[in-house]
Amino acid sequence: MVTPYRGRFAPSPSGPLHFGSLVAATTSYLQAQANNGEWWLRIEDIDPPREVAGASEAIISSLAAHGFIWTGEIQYQSRNREQHDAAIKELLDTSQAYPCTCTRKHIRATAKSGPAGPVYPGTCRNGPDSGMSAHKALASNDGTRAIRIRTSDEPVAFTDQLQGQIEQRIRSQIGDILVLRKNKLIAYHLAVVVDDHAQGITEIVRGTDLLESTPVQIFLQRMLGLATPAYMHFPIAVDSSGDKLSKQTGAKPVNDATPVSNLLRCLQFLGQQPPDELSDSTVAIIWDWARENWHPEALSGVRNLDLPGTN
Ligand code: GLU
Ligand code: ZN
Repeated sequence: MVTPYRGRFAPSPSGPLHFGSLVAATTSYLQAQANNGEWWLRIEDIDPPREVAGASEAIISSLAAHGFIWTGEIQYQSRNREQHDAAIKELLDTSQAYPCTCTRKHIRATAKSGPAGPVYPGTCRNGPDSGMSAHKALASNDGTRAIRIRTSDEPVAFTDQLQGQIEQRIRSQIGDILVLRKNKLIAYHLAVVVDDHAQGITEIVRGTDLLESTPVQIFLQRMLGLATPAYMHFPIAVDSSGDKLSKQTGAKPVNDATPVSNLLRCLQFLGQQPPDELSDSTVAIIWDWARENWHPEALSGVRNLDLPGTN
């Protein structure tokens, strides 16, 4: 039996939907539609300090205003904490993870910089706590221990549908990443890997800003004995100074009153060629056109295209 396609859009509630996140939603949606698949909406709300009040609701109503139809109930990452904890416990039990007591200051002073930021130098890998039982490491609620995975330099390679062959050596390029922070918040990579598996996601469609995250997520999947889904990283929208449009850099929210022109601009950005007549139509008609005329190959040509007036 062929596994049915299951995709997802996984916004963090750090602000309302802006043009860059509309592009992400649209790309993953059309990929799912073109594959007669499901498209799940998952709100990645595991980082309360970065969460903006009302952002989840704003994202959801923008998606609805733009005619997106998601499968099933909206998923909230924070509600999957038990599975995140179970995965961390498994990593500790199998000595694939260890407690880390390093301070930020120490890491800043000792880490080399890698393509995705500072590479943790491995100070606690064989430290006094490294053999601590999972129970003890997780039970210590004193805020002094984070948990890191024990990575290796075995190359991790995958073929991205748009970006081609990608290969990385995790230990020297990324380092032993955190799966649990000292403040007991779950780290992004762990949550994504566990949730994508729990939801049975077959293809992950997201922006090239997350391309560096993929090898480490594949590494984590292997540690946990989970299958690796397919990946497609599309070029992201940037502003006139070349920075990613993001909620953090203050990209303007999309205007929910003009979904037709927003979607058309989005399709143009994605290298699709919506006919002019569509500007007088409805979102439903645009989605029908977009689904039938979806050319993901066109995405390889739209590398970080600058669109004036989108941020
Ligand atoms: N929540 C992440 C973000 O908003 C996306 C995670 C993913 O697609 O894997 O940037
Ligand atoms: Zn440490």
